[in-house]
Amino acid sequence: MPKIITLPGDGIGPEVTAAAVEVLREVAPDLTFEEHAIGGAAYDAHGDPFPQRTRDALEHADAVLLGTVGGAQNSPWNSLPRPMRPESGLLALRKALGCYANLRPVRVQPGLEHLSPLKPELARGVDILIVRELLGGVYFDGDRKIDGDTAYNTMRYTTPEVERVAKMAFWAAEQRKGRVTSVDKANVLEVSELWRRDVQALRDREYRSIHLNHEYVDSVAMLIVSDPSRYDVIVTENLFGDILSDLAAVIPGSLGLMPSASLGDGAGLFEPIHGSAPDIAGKGIANPAAAIMSAAMLLRHGLGRSDAANAIERAVALALREEPTRDLGGQADTKTFTNAVLEAMGTPV
Ligand code: ATP
Ligand code: MG
Repeated sequence: MPKIITLPGDGIGPEVTAAAVEVLREVAPDLTFEEHAIGGAAYDAHGDPFPQRTRDALEHADAVLLGTVGGAQNSPWNSLPRPMRPESGLLALRKALGCYANLRPVRVQPGLEHLSPLKPELARGVDILIVRELLGGVYFDGDRKIDGDTAYNTMRYTTPEVERVAKMAFWAAEQRKGRVTSVDKANVLEVSELWRRDVQALRDREYRSIHLNHEYVDSVAMLIVSDPSRYDVIVTENLFGDILSDLAAVIPGSLGLMPSASLGDGAGLFEPIHGSAPDIAGKGIANPAAAIMSAAMLLRHGLGRSDAANAIERAVALALREEPTRDLGGQADTKTFTNAVLEAMGTPV
């Protein structure tokens, strides 16, 4: 009986997490759920945005389903000392899980091409998975300093760091179209030279069925919006991935449609990429699609249950067409949409 730790968090987090749990219970009745506190809600209840009880619970988790963390601009949480703020709880959680790969699908749902800022003919059928290295590179490792009028950071990677995230990308590609684009800046950076060499060597050694190509990050920044259908899985280092994944996130046209997974050697973390949306929290109108699709990623990447994941994704696509939520220009509230997903899961393919 796999154990899922749920961390509903703040704002619309509890509403969308409840919807995701309802869907998970339907497709995977053997899962057990244990709810714990994180973020501002955890500070209010326990005086700590990442309480020890939550930390301990992660030890025996098979996967973690997170809602959202944080408050409004004028929230009293923002005047707390930094380590007590909701976001610090989120950072501590990510650190505790040690996930080194962040997976973000960028998918334009059939029938929702009009939401995309891209022309409908470009948006149609976009289905990319961005795999971003999460624990290394210029944000974390190596020397860093600011001293008078000089400052520097270091982008540093080792072969094992490159290989573990590349493996994740190849593994994901095997379940998709079998194409991986590795993104670097090997024409100017030595660290990219190593990245490119190691990704290619791993492909040649262990993933010969995968079609791998290498592109420069500046070129990908153009092509991902001018010709997005050329991509299946993109794998890249931390800084490039940070920028590319936010750029690509505008393609589907709504924050409410974007799930994510962070994976490492232990339990994975699954969460919608949108924020706590304090402006609509507690009203029962949040779009739970991103949280429900994060639950699908939990099944696929966290528990290896692709069939159940596919069933959820198919049902979400149907529900989005039949009962679009308000952020998508429709009328459905959280409950109506969730019911439409549950109903669609019972619909024969
Ligand atoms: P945070 O600091 O918590 O990330 P933010 O300022 O980035 O917050 P978001 O919470 O990401 O803002 O939301 C941005 C806008 O998108 C808000 O108007 C919010 O209501 C809307 N929004 C975000 N997620 C959803 C959702 N799931 N359903 C409906 N609307 C949403
Ligand atoms: Mg935000």
